[in-house]
Amino acid sequence: MLKTRQILGCSSGLVSHRWKPYSSTGSRQVSFISISTCSKPLLLSSSSSSSSTIIPTTTTLLLPGSSPRRTRFGAFSMSSAHSGPNPGGPSSSVAVHSAGNARKINFCQWCGGPTKHEIPDGEEKIRAICTVCDKIAYENPKMVVGCLIEHDNMVLLCKRKIQPSYGLWTLPAGYMEIGESATEGAIRETWEEACAEVEVLSSFAQLDIPLIGQTYVIFLARLKKPHFSPGPESSECRLFALDDIPFDSLAFSSMVVTLKLYAEDVRAGKLKFHYGIINKKPGTSPSDIHAYTLDYHLQS
Ligand SMILES: [Zn+2]
Repeated sequence: MLKTRQILGCSSGLVSHRWKPYSSTGSRQVSFISISTCSKPLLLSSSSSSSSTIIPTTTTLLLPGSSPRRTRFGAFSMSSAHSGPNPGGPSSSVAVHSAGNARKINFCQWCGGPTKHEIPDGEEKIRAICTVCDKIAYENPKMVVGCLIEHDNMVLLCKRKIQPSYGLWTLPAGYMEIGESATEGAIRETWEEACAEVEVLSSFAQLDIPLIGQTYVIFLARLKKPHFSPGPESSECRLFALDDIPFDSLAFSSMVVTLKLYAEDVRAGKLKFHYGIINKKPGTSPSDIHAYTLDYHLQS
């Protein structure tokens, strides 16, 4: 999950859940509602009506009948999914010559000296340049890694217990750390936020958000063990059938895009790999998760 600090594993605490199956609309939805954070993943055993033991449909949790679907990668095709003011090319709403956050960098990260803000020789953008050691502070996008966990034709979402987007739903995802691979980061974030051990099956999406300097890398994954429960940054973890995904209560535009593409793929009978650029519509709030265009959408 997006956060500003690193949390290792789940904090200790009592876990209590209840199983709430319902079918008011005829669609299947299994709900695991956490009452407190976990000390370790909760074992989901076979059928029971106990409120303290979690048990959705037994063997389906172990995915016997849902062997991992692996995306077949073929040639990329491109669709003009973009709309609105942005052209279909790999453009950004950020001007190339802008200073970005360079002007916010006032001290050198290496020697602590004061910086000046200029365009270095041979370059095009304003940079923060140390006036003592002359080093240039280059800014690079951050990579957000996460898992789209398929389970019994449902996907696992976490309700955020932290800002931003408190109380809204997201795939387990967060900033990749130095020293780990993208898959390791996605697996770690899933453990931290959903106390779930997962196996990464394939890549699903890379979504660039130039405006805020982020790239999302989302993997398809499956539960290695029939366990999940909210980690310290989640108030609830729940499996959603496609028809029940709360598209108006998702935390970020990246999650809207990812889940829409996934739902389209599932309904079309073939999972693809997607690349795209999420450009927020000018003048809209970051919290308006539907105010974006998906540009340069490539799919295998
Ligand atoms: Zn310096």
